[in-house]
Amino acid sequence: MKKKVEELYEKYAGDLHELSKYIYENPELGRGEVKAAKAHMELLKKNGFDIDEGILGIETAFIASYTSKKEGPKVAFLAEYDALPEIGHGCGHNILGAASTGAGLLLKEFVDDIGGEVLVYGTPAEETDGAKVDMAKAGLFDGLDIAMAVHPIGEKHMKSGTSQAMEAIRFEYHGKTAHAAGMPHEGINALDGVITLFNSINAMRQQVKDGERIHGIVSKGGEAANIIPDYAAADFYVRSDTRKNLGELVERVKNCAKGAALATGTQVEISNYEYTFEDLVTNKKLSELYVNNLKRLGVEEIGEGKETGSTDMGDVSYCCPVIHPYFPISKEALTGHSVEFAAATQTEEAKRGMKEAVMAMVLTGIEVIVDEKILGEIKAEFSQIEGK
Ligand SMILES: [Zn+2]
Ligand SMILES: [Zn+2]
Repeated sequence: MKKKVEELYEKYAGDLHELSKYIYENPELGRGEVKAAKAHMELLKKNGFDIDEGILGIETAFIASYTSKKEGPKVAFLAEYDALPEIGHGCGHNILGAASTGAGLLLKEFVDDIGGEVLVYGTPAEETDGAKVDMAKAGLFDGLDIAMAVHPIGEKHMKSGTSQAMEAIRFEYHGKTAHAAGMPHEGINALDGVITLFNSINAMRQQVKDGERIHGIVSKGGEAANIIPDYAAADFYVRSDTRKNLGELVERVKNCAKGAALATGTQVEISNYEYTFEDLVTNKKLSELYVNNLKRLGVEEIGEGKETGSTDMGDVSYCCPVIHPYFPISKEALTGHSVEFAAATQTEEAKRGMKEAVMAMVLTGIEVIVDEKILGEIKAEFSQIEGK
């Protein structure tokens, strides 16, 4: 089986490298990934997939499917292809998308014999308003037996781990303008609201749980130094290991914001400026299959899963059994969200890492389709997840 998967990989390798390179050279921000989505859909369509595009009214979201004549499990691969402002594909979603589409193309070649259905989901805007959140809410992952996506990283393969639940919160302070030297007592300083918010959060940090993250920027701080600002704003991301713990932490952060308003005489408006992400629940049985397949391919070094950072794959993990492991695009450790990371997706190391990841995903998909017992274990584990 391994040999056949490898032969098939070689058949598609040229197309996959071209796809990754084209998207690398044409970076597009979340929900504007028109070229990237089109390139994925064309390749899938050319190889016999049916395409449903503009899913939920999101122009760059699609679902590609291939159903064999034999009934069987539904295996999905989730593609991402959004870039970051200024630094392009610093998160490597160009190669992530190519890997998922590649796994779809390869597994399709088997399902006429073994049965089942292969799907590739085009999921825009992972970095911002992750479309997987909308798709999860609409129930589009509910009927899947398993879903997989592998993310690039530096150095070595890593198991699927957890990710942090995350909320994106905007704080807008409103005050009153006045001449900062002539009539300061007439003004209400909105920037003081923001500064007090940062100081309150920084005081609180010492008493948060291990691994929790609160990080923000001042997005508006006033117009000129001689005018007391009547408007100032800050954007924050707040992260914790589970939705429940996140809820408690967010409450405390919001109290800091309210306290800052009271202390400075300002009014604060609190809103979400991007989607909230669930934490990622890895299906351990599915992860075990993937890791064993990597070992079968000769991969010796496989690191433990990551715990920090957030992804909309978390929302999918509450809908069906998922894994979200990492594959290496370099021999060195790399800093994520950097231009160096983007460039590394075009190296020979990246091609090797992607090949291993794609082959391991395909072998895992085959096992899940042919072995009812294994799928039963995966589903039993999934049914135990709390808060679905
Ligand atoms: Zn990413
Ligand atoms: Zn990223």
